[in-house]
Amino acid sequence: MDFDLTEEQRAFQDAAREFARESLLPHAGTWDETRHFPAEELRQAAALGFAGIYVPEAHGGAGLGRLDAALIFEELAYADPSTAAFLTIHNMVAGMISRFGSEEQRERFLPKVLTAEHFVSYCLTEPGSGSDAAALRTKAEAVGNAQYKVNGSKAFISGGGIADLYVTMVRTGEAGPRGISCVVVEAPAEGLSFGVPERKMGWNSQPTASVNFSDVLVPVANRLGAEGDGFRYAMMGLDGGRVNIAACSLGGAQACLDASLAYVRQRRAFGKAIADFQALQFKLADMATELEAARLMVHRAAVALDRGEKDATQRCAMAKRFATDLCHRICDEALQLHGGYGYIHSTGIERYVRDLRVHRILEGTNEIMRVIIARKMLEVI
Ligand SMILES: Cc1cc2nc3c(=O)[nH]c(=O)nc-3n(C[C@H](O)[C@H](O)[C@H](O)COP(=O)(O)OP(=O)(O)OC[C@H]3O[C@@H](n4cnc5c(N)ncnc54)[C@H](O)[C@@H]3O)c2cc1C
Repeated sequence: MDFDLTEEQRAFQDAAREFARESLLPHAGTWDETRHFPAEELRQAAALGFAGIYVPEAHGGAGLGRLDAALIFEELAYADPSTAAFLTIHNMVAGMISRFGSEEQRERFLPKVLTAEHFVSYCLTEPGSGSDAAALRTKAEAVGNAQYKVNGSKAFISGGGIADLYVTMVRTGEAGPRGISCVVVEAPAEGLSFGVPERKMGWNSQPTASVNFSDVLVPVANRLGAEGDGFRYAMMGLDGGRVNIAACSLGGAQACLDASLAYVRQRRAFGKAIADFQALQFKLADMATELEAARLMVHRAAVALDRGEKDATQRCAMAKRFATDLCHRICDEALQLHGGYGYIHSTGIERYVRDLRVHRILEGTNEIMRVIIARKMLEVI
């Protein structure tokens, strides 16, 4: 077991750190307050290869692994978890098109996705089905041999309204997971509309909106894989998505821990630096320990995914559950260590608490992560 990063991994970790601290960190607070979507900076990230990190070089991507991606996303999220998380979803969808698409579809969609000229969304959740995703009702009916007519609605879609491609899970057959297919819906399209961007607790640098389909005609040529494969693809995409989101939680927690270490040294109470209180030293020690444990789990899950290990899904769920819960707690402890200053905007700590909160809910809630882990342990269907 080798815990050292390779020279190459250190190089792109450094590149991600430099980009994040120069191009994201100075603006993250403003983007959060003004709900600005940083398209330009995301395109700069794409120019560094960060829009298709684990898309193979043969498909135009950076050709790196999931562990490499986790290292990059951690660095980006250190500066801005919301913007980094948007990029993780973009990477997840780029990875799905690369892996499940045909040669023709890759050539048609990927070049603009990999430069982030086109942004992409992942559309699974519906108003009536979130955790129970296989109950989705958005329907794609065949119209002749060449088209589907799509009707229905997706809820909480990251990038809804600004994305150019919507990789959408639709029902083409029977009830349950086997009746679901995956189609790429290209915007604009007649009958495709979007809800008003949701007002959210965090993740404010990216829009979240409903995506509505009213008799939207989608070419059959835009279906990834065969009819009935969509749910499997959606879940395979999410394995990696969960590692990515967990990596964003690591970055946010590390930023909060670093800020806390600096703060406790300079803040004084009862005639000494608050760093001298053992109660606070223990808190810092626990934060660092938990962050280290979470990082090891995330990296282990990423490696399992890269190697195609048979328990990779379970490891991804474990890492997502553990890292997103623990890292959110670390940010909250950091806020506590900053006292009243932690609660106000200018220190920036509260932004991390708000941004990391949703990581415990999306890409499958942490309760659903437990369902996945326990199901595997008990080997039930
Ligand atoms: C900001 C944001 C961005 C999002 N982006 C996207 C996106 O880009 N694409 C997309 O498809 N979705 C997206 N989502 C949706 C997200 O994935 C869902 O909100 C999530 O899966 C939970 O679904 P739900 O909200 O319907 O909750 P529900 O499924 O209704 O769950 C409610 C509660 O019940 C619990 N629960 C449900 N079933 C079980 C069970 N079997 N055992 C134990 N507890 C259970 C849940 O854990 C939760 O606590 C986003 C959500 C948010 C908030």
